[in-house]
Amino acid sequence: MPEVCWLSLNVSEDKLAEIRNAADIVDVISSRVLLKKAGKDYTGLCPFHSEKTPSFTVSPTKQIFHCFGCGTGGTIFNFLMLYENMTFLEAVETLSRQYGVALPSRKMTDREKKQMSEREQLLAINRKAMEFYKEKLFKSPEGENARRYIKQRKTQRELIDTFGLGFAPDGWDGLAKFLTRSKIPMAMAEKAGLVVPRKSNGYYDRFRNRIIFPISDTTDQVIGFGGRVMDNAKPKYLNSPETPVYNKSRTLYGLHAAREKCRREESVFVVEGYFDLLSMHQFGIGNSVATLGTSLTREHIRRLKGYAKKAFLVFDSDEAGVKAAHRTTGTFMDEGMEAAVVLLPAGHDPDSFLFEHGADRFFEVVERALGLIDFQIKSAIDRNSLSLEGKVRIISEMAPSFSQVTDSSARSIFIQYLAEKIGVDETTILEKVSQERQAIKNKPSGSSAPAGTRKTADGRLQKTAAPDRFEARVIAMMFQYPDILDVIKQQGVLEHFEDPRLKKVGETILGVYPHIVDSVSEFISRLEDESQRDLVASLCIDESEWEEKSCKMLLSQFLKTRGRRNNDLLDRIRAAEKCGDQALVIKLLIEKQNQMANRQ
Ligand SMILES: [Zn+2]
Repeated sequence: MPEVCWLSLNVSEDKLAEIRNAADIVDVISSRVLLKKAGKDYTGLCPFHSEKTPSFTVSPTKQIFHCFGCGTGGTIFNFLMLYENMTFLEAVETLSRQYGVALPSRKMTDREKKQMSEREQLLAINRKAMEFYKEKLFKSPEGENARRYIKQRKTQRELIDTFGLGFAPDGWDGLAKFLTRSKIPMAMAEKAGLVVPRKSNGYYDRFRNRIIFPISDTTDQVIGFGGRVMDNAKPKYLNSPETPVYNKSRTLYGLHAAREKCRREESVFVVEGYFDLLSMHQFGIGNSVATLGTSLTREHIRRLKGYAKKAFLVFDSDEAGVKAAHRTTGTFMDEGMEAAVVLLPAGHDPDSFLFEHGADRFFEVVERALGLIDFQIKSAIDRNSLSLEGKVRIISEMAPSFSQVTDSSARSIFIQYLAEKIGVDETTILEKVSQERQAIKNKPSGSSAPAGTRKTADGRLQKTAAPDRFEARVIAMMFQYPDILDVIKQQGVLEHFEDPRLKKVGETILGVYPHIVDSVSEFISRLEDESQRDLVASLCIDESEWEEKSCKMLLSQFLKTRGRRNNDLLDRIRAAEKCGDQALVIKLLIEKQNQMANRQ
């Protein structure tokens, strides 16, 4: 196994502060989400829920993020944990690597090796396997055929190196033997998806006699592999199975290499095959990704919209284009991303088209690309005649796509458009569409969390209770106008708090004051509870102009209201005693006790 160094499991506060100072949250998030400057802050479409208008906000001054739509928020570390599905330590390690903050590392003891996160182990095994495949492609006699095959495809050497291509030889256990020699436990190699257990005993290689394409994530780590045959054998493509580090529905092949160009061009091309993708790069169309033989998921689209405003889905046949358009129209709309279908002439995939006709001709085809709905309407009309039966078929074909459009005005524009195109009454189409919509409504709903709820670790939706407004305002003031903290302490303001979460946050502020009041992000990173983090980020992101006078006014108002509520209760107890209503006295006393308990 390669010398794997891993930071000691306890990273000191100083180191964390150093990383926070070196890494800029806008920098880190904007490399994954398209952000726009809005006043002091930056906003963009949230990567954690579906939205068409940006409510995801990043504050460079406070180094925190918060989404007004779904309530998710926190520090730079929390963002990476959520977006890249990392543990806290993995987020720390990634940032320290990226920003050149040296973390204490050393050779690991056996015990520490065991403790090393599973993710790190799997990534290390993938790196090792990649070395093996590369060596086989370039240096081994078995690689001769593969070398000839690649030469014949005219792929530039530079690209082969950039994408780390390799070759899995035709034996059954070349990799398995190599990994065993490298002291990698076969059970872990199986977990990485590289070997498959035999029925009897031992393991065999998953990839055999295939060109190997390592699949990287956005932090440039190899998380899985794709293998393509060199002849007509089936399956043409074989990918790693889902593993703890490789998630098909989130990963797009080549995204790590396409990001910069997607940003510059504000668009991304989505192709199907590995060589298609390499050819796009070879012909200077580097803002391209490939789907790895799966259809585009909502997660894919959410990732893509972080890099580009428009997606061009490139297909080699009308049928494939229609299928994809039917499936993704609603999702693209929900996610606020524009999409169009690029249809290559019959018999061509991007690879063959580019080599035969070049990039200029490719862009001529792109010029003619139609939006998803347009494309479907045109295709439906082309395939069906405008006879009565034809019209009925067109309407049935289009209704499911129309029904996915949640924006009602957009929906009626599309319906109107189709009605004109095929010369039928709008109401005919409308009726069919509302039937479809009804059918969708009756189905269990999709995956995104509506506002005011959040997903728990196991994916369940959980309601987050809204914080007490008055108290929230006081806490926001404590963060934003720390000069007031002494007054808050003296007047015992927090004792009157009734929302236990806010009270806890307030006490934490007073507890660490005056050390960290100038760093909200540091404060948040100390909070272990996710809902508390979201809450604090939400209170800090919106800034008011505080001054001493307005702060004191807010406090006295707060104390007056809370005091009055308290006095009310005392008055009622006295009155009940006067009347001799023992039952009521007891009830009110219990209420009073509860109130006191909440304040402690
Ligand atoms: Zn959100």
